[in-house]
Amino acid sequence: MRKKDQSKISLGIDIGGTNIKIGLVKDNKIIKKGYFKTEKDFDNQSFTNHLIKIIEKFIAGYKIDKIGIGIAGYLLYQKGILKFSPNLPKLKNLPLKRIVERYFQIETFLLNDADAMAIGEYFYHHKRYKNLITITLGTGVGSGIIVNDKLLYNSEFGHTLLIPDGYLCSCGKRGCVESYLGSYGMLKIARNFYKKEIEDLTPKKIYEKAKKKDKRALKTIEKYSYYLAIALSNLINLFNPEIIILNGGISNMGNLLLKFVKPFLKEKVFFLPKIKISNLKTLAGIIGAVNFSKFSRL
Ligand SMILES: [Zn+2]
Repeated sequence: MRKKDQSKISLGIDIGGTNIKIGLVKDNKIIKKGYFKTEKDFDNQSFTNHLIKIIEKFIAGYKIDKIGIGIAGYLLYQKGILKFSPNLPKLKNLPLKRIVERYFQIETFLLNDADAMAIGEYFYHHKRYKNLITITLGTGVGSGIIVNDKLLYNSEFGHTLLIPDGYLCSCGKRGCVESYLGSYGMLKIARNFYKKEIEDLTPKKIYEKAKKKDKRALKTIEKYSYYLAIALSNLINLFNPEIIILNGGISNMGNLLLKFVKPFLKEKVFFLPKIKISNLKTLAGIIGAVNFSKFSRL
C-alpha cells in the first residue's frame, strides 16, 4: 500500500499573465505538461470557466490525488482566496481553492507563484536546505523565502526599496528592486550604455551580444549585477539563507551573471551562501504547487 501511495499523480498549475503552465506530477517528476493562453481582461467568472475547462481536458483519464495552483498575487492563504493579481487585474477576491475543489471533488491548494517556486526547489534539493530563497528575475521580480523549513507567505522582495527616488516601478513606487532587476529595469540600465540604439533591445539580445564580447552589453550586465548584489546582500544579511536560487528569463545568463555578481556580493555580506541558477527553471512552480500541502505557516 505504502509504495502505491507514494506514486500518486498530482496536478500542478502555474498561472502567469499570459500563460497557464500545467503539469501532472508523479514522485516530483513531471509526466505530462501543457501550456495554455490566458487573457488580461478575464474577470472572476470568465477566468474560472477557462481554468476549469483546461483542467478537465488535461486530467481526463488520470486519477488525481490533489491540485496545487500557483498564481502571482496576494493570497489569503488560510481561505484559499486570491485578493488580487497584478497580471490579471480584473480578478478580485476570488475563492479559487473552493471553486476548483468543489467542481472536481479533489483537494486543492492555492498559493503565490513565487512561493510555489521556493517549495519546488526545496523538494528538488531533497529538503537539504532548511533556509532557501528563490528570486525570479523576469518581467517582474518574485521572491520565495523558506526559513527553518517553513514558508514565509506572500513575500514581495521585488517591491522593497533598492534606490531612493530611482526608476519608476510597475507598482507605482520609485526605486523598487523590481524597477532595476526586472527586464524593463535591465533595459533602462542598458540605455546608459547604448544611447539611441536601444529600441529593439531585450535582455536576451543583451546576453547574445555579451557572449560576443560586446562592451556595452557586458557593461550593462555588470551594472545590473551590481544592483543585484546590493539586493541579494540585503536578503542574505536578513535571512542568512544557505542557498539562493535564481530563476526567470534573466537568470538564463547563467555563469556570465554569477561571474559579475559574486565578487560584488562578497564585499557586502558577512557570510556568502551558495548562489545558483535553477535547474528546474519554469517547472519549479508546478512542482512546488503540488507540494504545498506539506508546508505549514511560519
Ligand atoms: Zn514596486
